[in-house]
Amino acid sequence: MKMVDVIVIGGGHAGCEAALASARMGCSTILITLEASKIALMPCNPAIGGVGKGHIVREIDALGGEMAKIIDETGIQFRVLNSSKGPAVHGFRAQADKDRYKNAMRRVLENTENLDLVFEEVDELIIESFTIKGLRTASGMELNAKSVVITTGTFLNGLIHLGLTSRPAGRVGEKPSTKLSQSFLAAGFELGRLKTGTPPRLKRDSIDFSKCIIQLGDDVPQPFSFSTSGIDRKQVPCYLTATNELTSKVISDNLHLSPLYSGVIDGVGPRYCPSIEDKVVKFPDKNSHNIFLEPEGLDTDWIYPNGISTSLAEEVQLKLVQTIPGLEQAEIVLPGYAVEYDYVPPTQLTPALETKKVSGLFHAGQINGTSGYEEAAGQGIMAGINAALKAQKRKPFLLTRMDSYIGVLIDDLVTKGTLEPYRMFTSRAEYRLILRQDNADERLMQKGHELGLVNKVLLEKCMKKYRSVDREIKRLEETPVAPNPENLIRLSKLGIQELRNPTTLGGLLRRPEVTHDSLLNAFDGQKVPQLIAEQVEIRIKYEGFINRQNQMVARQKKLEHYRIPDNFKYQGISGLSHEVIQRLEEIRPITLGQAGRISGVTPSAISLIMVLLEKFQSRSSTDCKEL
Ligand code: FAD
Repeated sequence: MKMVDVIVIGGGHAGCEAALASARMGCSTILITLEASKIALMPCNPAIGGVGKGHIVREIDALGGEMAKIIDETGIQFRVLNSSKGPAVHGFRAQADKDRYKNAMRRVLENTENLDLVFEEVDELIIESFTIKGLRTASGMELNAKSVVITTGTFLNGLIHLGLTSRPAGRVGEKPSTKLSQSFLAAGFELGRLKTGTPPRLKRDSIDFSKCIIQLGDDVPQPFSFSTSGIDRKQVPCYLTATNELTSKVISDNLHLSPLYSGVIDGVGPRYCPSIEDKVVKFPDKNSHNIFLEPEGLDTDWIYPNGISTSLAEEVQLKLVQTIPGLEQAEIVLPGYAVEYDYVPPTQLTPALETKKVSGLFHAGQINGTSGYEEAAGQGIMAGINAALKAQKRKPFLLTRMDSYIGVLIDDLVTKGTLEPYRMFTSRAEYRLILRQDNADERLMQKGHELGLVNKVLLEKCMKKYRSVDREIKRLEETPVAPNPENLIRLSKLGIQELRNPTTLGGLLRRPEVTHDSLLNAFDGQKVPQLIAEQVEIRIKYEGFINRQNQMVARQKKLEHYRIPDNFKYQGISGLSHEVIQRLEEIRPITLGQAGRISGVTPSAISLIMVLLEKFQSRSSTDCKEL
């Protein structure tokens, strides 16, 4: 029987980050997963990032995780989405070479000190006195650990559907995990059922790309990782086409062959990534839906048609695909399908992603009801860090809604739960002007360093960057610009026709038509590195908004720092309704701020609890305020 500090079950996107974080923090770690060749597999779209998701990737990087570096190394097309909009909603996205991504991640895992890989199916958790002790595999091997992280994705009682045929599978071609759910039920966890789906893959040579619109990557691809200096790889194009009335008709005529619409599937699907049959049924007036044709890699001729996820019968899939311009002769190399799986509703977790029922047991990724590689990886690194801290008998590491998208994700999951696959959007973050992807390094790298996941050289590089930003802002704010004839000529180059009062270079940069680059060109011709110029421009232009959000954060922090002791009793508090007491007992929020976000908990309930907490604090020696 082997004993280690941390065991991570599952080698998907959550599991890889969890295992790396734990091992890098000095814990002896085992990553146990079903198949070596499926480590870090992308079973759906061949891409990392996007709006909201890209923020998470950068935060993982700032904390010392791997996803950003691997996609920088293996990406085949890089784009910044929403680049014409404000910086808060810019989204980094890259097409991945799926095989190279997988292989690169596996190489990193294999070369990480303190980390062993085991390829077996875990059948059972060993739990004693509400504490995790280890696990048993299908071959009867027993492994013991101080902490266990479960990241089993779509595998728990996985059932895949293609037309009216269903068969047990975690993903296509992979067996499901059928016994592990029993361990959860035996330990008293509640389980739920969700579903997700994927489109058919098409053969590149069977597509007529001349009928589609080419989609190129950015001229200068921007890396995800702070430690990647640049990307000089040749980028490949994607293509855009669209469905039409004929496609909708094929789908409507064949809904009786859809497991979704014939009552075969019980699990709730992803609202924001619906199947094409869902789109046709729910939006009957819209006859055209965009389809992006994305290569799955450089060494494969598989094309991923993003936008037509479907579980219709295979012959119907071919019919509907062939109604689309450019795809008239398309061949399907792998049909689309849907997968239903058990998840463990995440309100059963603490903000450290540890289960409330079993000490030392952590959950991350799709098992918590999320969907997406980035959401999984973001939880994975946090669960890995906290599993390691638990094994080392150290305090948990928590992120909040005020410092990161990962904090928003985890807070939403553990406070509100989710009844459908949860996906990240910038609109989920109330402080998005300060939680930008461009400042993830500033927000989180120091924390990553303190955890032992970011080295000193990298942290110093980051601090140097922000010292340069501060210096440049000071210089601009202190350089006067008088309304004299010489300056008026310069200003005309910036599109400014008159200047009534003296100002500064900083003052000019606040004007919408002026960029940092154009300002320096018109005035002093100084050269400032692009990464620094970007920060200077954002900070000066959005100063008012950023200050306002910082004030809101300061107010919210007061509530967040108001800790609710573990032994605080809600039962019997007169003035709290039965429903509010029930919700508070169920979630057991750790701060007053978290309590306020539980649905059904009213502001007056929060005021009452605050008063009681103060009394509680003065009565007991428990330090429950301003921890
Ligand atoms: P996974 O990547 O699923 O990894 C789970 C790992 O656990 C696997 O390596 C498996 O081998 C291992 N494992 C499972 N059970 C055991 C066991 N008992 N013992 C040992 N190892 C075990 N996301 C989107 O954002 N949009 C989409 O449209 C989308 N569509 C999808 C369609 C399909 C068909 C599938 C399968 C997934 C889709 N996803 C989609 C989801 C995305 O793939 C996942 O959210 C993400 O990969 C989850 O990562 P994870 O680490 O939680 O789990």
